[in-house]
Amino acid sequence: MTATLPTQTTAAVEVLASAAAAGATVVLSGHVQPDADALGSTLALAEGLRRCGARVVPTFPEPFTLPASLGWLPGAGQLVHPDSVPTDVDVFVSLDAASPGRLGSLARLLDTAGRSVVVDHHASNPGFGEVQLVDGQAAATVVLVADLLDGLGVELDPRLATCLYAGLAADTGSFRFGNTAPGTHELAARLLRTGIDHAAISQRLFDTAPFGWLGLLSAVTGRAVLEPAVGAGMVWTWSTAAEAREHGLAPDQLEALVDVVRSTAEADVACVLKGQDDGSWVVSMRSRGATDLARIAMALGGGGHRAAAGYSSALDLDGTIAQLRAALS
Ligand code: AMP
Ligand code: MN
Ligand code: MN
Repeated sequence: MTATLPTQTTAAVEVLASAAAAGATVVLSGHVQPDADALGSTLALAEGLRRCGARVVPTFPEPFTLPASLGWLPGAGQLVHPDSVPTDVDVFVSLDAASPGRLGSLARLLDTAGRSVVVDHHASNPGFGEVQLVDGQAAATVVLVADLLDGLGVELDPRLATCLYAGLAADTGSFRFGNTAPGTHELAARLLRTGIDHAAISQRLFDTAPFGWLGLLSAVTGRAVLEPAVGAGMVWTWSTAAEAREHGLAPDQLEALVDVVRSTAEADVACVLKGQDDGSWVVSMRSRGATDLARIAMALGGGGHRAAAGYSSALDLDGTIAQLRAALS
């Protein structure tokens, strides 16, 4: 089966298959503040490698807080705190992380593990790690993980398919975004054929939030600013982790706000500035198609895709938005 796979995939399968056959320790991590693609990739590949004989340690960088919308993913209970990752690691697998910085303290494993495999689909990925399975055309990292599981000879079952489907549906906006290709639907069909409850998965991912989220949404959309003259038009708003808590919400509930703001017809670019407890701002950006946000985000120290990207800013709110305005103009 591996003979028909692209070279990068074959190289990654070889490292993972020999590690599993030897019962080696494989640590797997997605990016900081993991989303469904990062965690779905981590949990699916960890489970596949476990079935092949590896000693797997799935983890993610600090802050080690699982978003409520993802805690139900099969295997999430087995995620290990990054501080509890063994020091003697045979293979480290990075999943959905656009750069080493997105791995937090776990980035050290790129140097200290015997081998490293980087599996990612970000346009901004500069290429890092030993074996690089990086495909900017892939709709999600879970697409690449499905190829790895095929290469390893792991049969897809509902448990694996649930993790993969979560990442696929999340990163394609439920198959609405431009990254959706015929192969995306073909993989989705394979996953559905395992018997997964895709409606329940989508409801948990996209259509479930505490009542307090409506109050937060109201406050955040109520202060949105439209700046038609910035680039091809910009709409932006802000919130903070503290404001989320005032509404009885965990700070990860700020992530879904940009999906509402991005529907603004008059603005090509939508931004949500999310204030962190340390005073810094994490910026989420979405484009309706006319602006290359991977380029903008990279210029500001972050990364991502053409239509969805992000970065962090140590400036205050006014300084952050002024810098962003300049970058988009
Ligand atoms: P978000 O707005 O957090 O949903 O991120 C949008 C896209 O940009 C995702 O694919 C992220 O992985 C990516 N991204 C966000 N922040 C960064 C960053 N600081 N560095 C690299 N990629 C990022
Ligand atoms: Mn991600
Ligand atoms: Mn992704």
